[in-house]
Amino acid sequence: METQKPIPVIQPWTEEFWKATKQHKFLIQHCSDCGSHIFFPKKVCPECWSENMDWIEAGGKAEVYTFTVMLDMVEPKFMADLPYVLAMVDLDEGIRMTTRIVNCKPEDVFIGMKVELAFQDVSPECSLPVFQPADPSLRISAPTDEETAAAVSEIEQLPNPQNYQTIQYEIGGKNNAVCTITLNRPDKYNAINRRMATELIDAFRRVREIPAVGVVVLTGAGKAFCTGGDLEIFPSLAEHQNSLNWLSHEGLDVQRAIASCEKVVICKINGHCLAGGLEVALACDLIYARASAKMGTTEINMGVLPGWGGTARLPRSMPIFRAREIIFSGRKDYSAEEMYAMGLLTRVFADDEFESKFEEIVNNIAAKKPIALRMGKEIMARSVDGCDIETALAVERNGIQWLTYAPDVQAVMDQFRAAPDQLTHQQKQRNIASDIK
Ligand SMILES: [Zn+2]
Repeated sequence: METQKPIPVIQPWTEEFWKATKQHKFLIQHCSDCGSHIFFPKKVCPECWSENMDWIEAGGKAEVYTFTVMLDMVEPKFMADLPYVLAMVDLDEGIRMTTRIVNCKPEDVFIGMKVELAFQDVSPECSLPVFQPADPSLRISAPTDEETAAAVSEIEQLPNPQNYQTIQYEIGGKNNAVCTITLNRPDKYNAINRRMATELIDAFRRVREIPAVGVVVLTGAGKAFCTGGDLEIFPSLAEHQNSLNWLSHEGLDVQRAIASCEKVVICKINGHCLAGGLEVALACDLIYARASAKMGTTEINMGVLPGWGGTARLPRSMPIFRAREIIFSGRKDYSAEEMYAMGLLTRVFADDEFESKFEEIVNNIAAKKPIALRMGKEIMARSVDGCDIETALAVERNGIQWLTYAPDVQAVMDQFRAAPDQLTHQQKQRNIASDIK
């Protein structure tokens, strides 16, 4: 079974080390000139800069120097491992290394605990050194074949665009600069269930890694944009503990994935946009709505409140006296025009011209340089949410400098500097404006 997690990148000077771990041996570099033991493998001795180094095999005995237990909020590929113990251990050879403590209950780990080397075969090329309790009574037994099979099938079900069930994910447009993510449970008015939340998080993290994409369009299939959390998934009292985790964590993680995807996320509200659906829209950078769309936060009608960022975000997204009305009234029939007049939306277009106007806007923004869009998003987010004006100005200044010294921007500036004198200043400006993309 191939791991989904990142595996070490092997460099010429670490090759020997990783070859040995494959044989379940742990090598430490030894400097022939000053006698130092060195870890992680280096090109030169950090103590005396000698290149005269050989390898010794470690005995594999160590002691826990410090540790932490990871319970939540890790990269999704590591989710299946939770909870796990991340530790620094001191080897008898005088090396301190970061590793995991395995085959042990997290609550049984302590500082000073004696541990010994073990290996995890994570890929055909790679085995990772980890540590387990030296005291066999503290070890938990290896998982049964059944447990291993269950874990494997869980990993195989990790979402990716080929097996999305609740959303569609397409990259297209000029230069493949536009990613369209469509909520795709039209028979449920695109209500968000657990699977959809997981797939949305995956999709937004995935698109972050694609440099050519500058714009993500988020929309809904069928007649609605999204009507919020699927009521089927709301917890019974018995499931409270478990599901509350889901409601608060994954709902919030969807917002975070949108905010941190480093693309301009444009929300295309094609129909009803209610409760959690409106909250997802609030996490986007721009919101365009069809005139016939109906909107609102209905949570208070059930005695709760918008809990996926809505109660916190709405008053930051529009004048607060209007935000309060939306949240307290529980109305689900605000028209898009009304919401626009109250200061919430970017723009509203009549139904018959919505698609063409929206496309025009997306194409225009998608033609800009993705890195400039990304920095614009970051600087504006800092300024609104995070900090005082001086700090925001500093972030802006750094961003602008970084952008200005990009080679393609400099090439255009050079052209401008070299342009013949007879061009008017205005003509030069126009040339620049059309060249920088
Ligand atoms: Zn040395």
